[in-house]
Amino acid sequence: MPDSTVWVLDDGGMKQVALRLQDKFPEKIGHIDLEKVMFVRLVGGKVSWAGKCFHVRPPWHLLTQATAMFGAQMPEPLDIRYIIAVNDDLVRGIFIVKEKEVMVILHELLHVRRDMEGVVPHDTEDFSWMLSQFGINWLETAPEEVIRQFSSVIEEPPEGQS
Ligand SMILES: [Zn+2]
Repeated sequence: MPDSTVWVLDDGGMKQVALRLQDKFPEKIGHIDLEKVMFVRLVGGKVSWAGKCFHVRPPWHLLTQATAMFGAQMPEPLDIRYIIAVNDDLVRGIFIVKEKEVMVILHELLHVRRDMEGVVPHDTEDFSWMLSQFGINWLETAPEEVIRQFSSVIEEPPEGQS
């Protein structure tokens, strides 16, 4: 069977969400250099995860620098150390509320190490901080007031559009 998995670069919305999450939780994720994080979406992956955080290990991180060198003229070479992915089928299909995608992005950002040199493993089946903030099984069970916390992180639609 042909593999129908498609990986696409996010249009920038995920990075904006990440920036606002850094403002909201500076002590947890404020250290992350988002210039070194690439945000992507997975479509048709037939996988059960909602989000993933990949550490781009040396020497693979040089691929982005090479692309920058040989490709478009850029002021600084790209130096991507992490790729954070959301599973489009899951977050857009099952999780109707956009806030839950934001929570997935927060979860994945917590996997980024302070030295940007690896992935922070879960300290429980999840991160205990996420569980204490939002409850066990937050992805399915987060109550309204928890979900509302993430409304401020979602980009406002441009003026004049509903
Ligand atoms: Zn995780």
